[in-house]
Amino acid sequence: MKAHSPFAAYDIPLQAMPNGEHRYSFALKGDFFGLFEASLITEAQIQVDLQIHRMGSRLDCTFRSEGSMQVGCARCLEPLGWPIQDESHLVVQCSDSVSELDSDEILVLPSGEISWNVAQFIYESIHLHYPLRAVCDEAALPCRSQEPWSEQGLLTYQTSDNSPTDPRWDRLKHVNFQ
Ligand SMILES: [Zn+2]
Repeated sequence: MKAHSPFAAYDIPLQAMPNGEHRYSFALKGDFFGLFEASLITEAQIQVDLQIHRMGSRLDCTFRSEGSMQVGCARCLEPLGWPIQDESHLVVQCSDSVSELDSDEILVLPSGEISWNVAQFIYESIHLHYPLRAVCDEAALPCRSQEPWSEQGLLTYQTSDNSPTDPRWDRLKHVNFQ
């Protein structure tokens, strides 16, 4: 039954994975984001490369995402291809006892777990880059709206400019891999 789940394509085998380096890649399109009810992304072409270094029960994971997602211009509503580039790190610890270690930086999974589904983590790391407000000008496209570039619009844009650096990910960037 599980094999028919659309999430099954994002299962990483845990028990069968030997120590060392492992790579996985995923080509994400709109249907991937459609798996998540809250997704603002409907169309996308994003390549995700996952690099895993396994040392016993610990997996150091690096997700690199690159591509574009479709965002509607806030002024003329035309769809824009919005670039996305992300690198996120996560440590997975397979353990039955250290649930207190579970945090934003360390994901604790039961040691008997056969596989780990990475869809949710990939979705969240990409969705953080969805712009609060996008307009054609920022994508260097001619805007169909005749509405002048308003003072308020400019302010909104300056605020939304901070969106790619979510504090949660800033913390992840500073995780020390020993
Ligand atoms: Zn526009």
